[in-house]
Amino acid sequence: MRIRILFVVLASLFLSQMLAASGKAQGRSSKYTIVIHGGAGTIPETIPDAVRDAYLGSLKKALTIGRNVLAKGGTSLEAVEDVIRYFETDPKFNAGIGAVYTSAGRHELDAAIMNGENLDAGAVAGVEHIAHPITLAKLVMEKTRHILLAYQGADDFGKQMGLKWVPNSYFDTPQRKTELEEYMNKIKRHDHGTVGCVCLDEYGNLAAGTSTGGLTGKLPGRIGDSPCIGDGTYANNQTCAVSGTGIGEQYIRYAVGFNINALMAYKGMSLKEAVHYIIHDVLKPGDGGVIAVDRRGNYAMDFNTTGMFRGVATSGGTFDVKIWK
Ligand code: ASP
Repeated sequence: MRIRILFVVLASLFLSQMLAASGKAQGRSSKYTIVIHGGAGTIPETIPDAVRDAYLGSLKKALTIGRNVLAKGGTSLEAVEDVIRYFETDPKFNAGIGAVYTSAGRHELDAAIMNGENLDAGAVAGVEHIAHPITLAKLVMEKTRHILLAYQGADDFGKQMGLKWVPNSYFDTPQRKTELEEYMNKIKRHDHGTVGCVCLDEYGNLAAGTSTGGLTGKLPGRIGDSPCIGDGTYANNQTCAVSGTGIGEQYIRYAVGFNINALMAYKGMSLKEAVHYIIHDVLKPGDGGVIAVDRRGNYAMDFNTTGMFRGVATSGGTFDVKIWK
């Protein structure tokens, strides 16, 4: 009898240790929120219905992937990675396949992910050969003592980790090639399609991720805001998780992600107020947009461009995708 009691005590001790280690031992609230974006920019309302529907279809697919992860008790980091991996395989978006061209006619990809629970973050810049930069960024966070790896070092690390390694031409698409030619012919515009995802999971943890090919015709070596923690990507359980999209230089200049968090932390602003202030009072019209979520599950999707591909799903049953106001 005593041996049986001892066994039960030991077994439950072991089980609680295992749960604590997995980070899932904290109370589950069964409340989650996921917000996604597929880029902001000049998106004319006159685009053909078929194109509009194709974008909305992809947004729904991405949102469903992330919502299902969270609804099954997955973590916000898992949802962010899965959503962005999907976008990185959809050539309509400027991430993974479909990444824009540099002025040298190649592709250099940036991505970042951040865990709001402990401020751990991983990012990669100038990646030329890894099919899923978001997974590479997550591995930088999990397997190294660094935050940002760039260029060949990042590609080599991906290879070492066994990630799918591809020739740079894997990222070629005719649509992006045309955009580069137009850019070279001085037809100015900001091509949209960067992707991002922010989530609150059932354990009360926030996470943010962003993946992009950057700006069409960018100089080789240019790094945007997406892999810069505090600029295009930021998450802190005390305040919010943010992913930005737009002219990266502006997002770096104004430390957009960090400042939204700072307005909440230091000025007591609500998520919506902080996002609105940065997008409409700090950035310039046409710069871009952000998606954000706070620890209570409030969310914001705000932009100062003509449109932003975006969507939101919550445990309360909201499921919505949109392009324009
Ligand atoms: N922010 C990205 C960059 O500048 C581009 C975008 O979001 O469209 O690299």
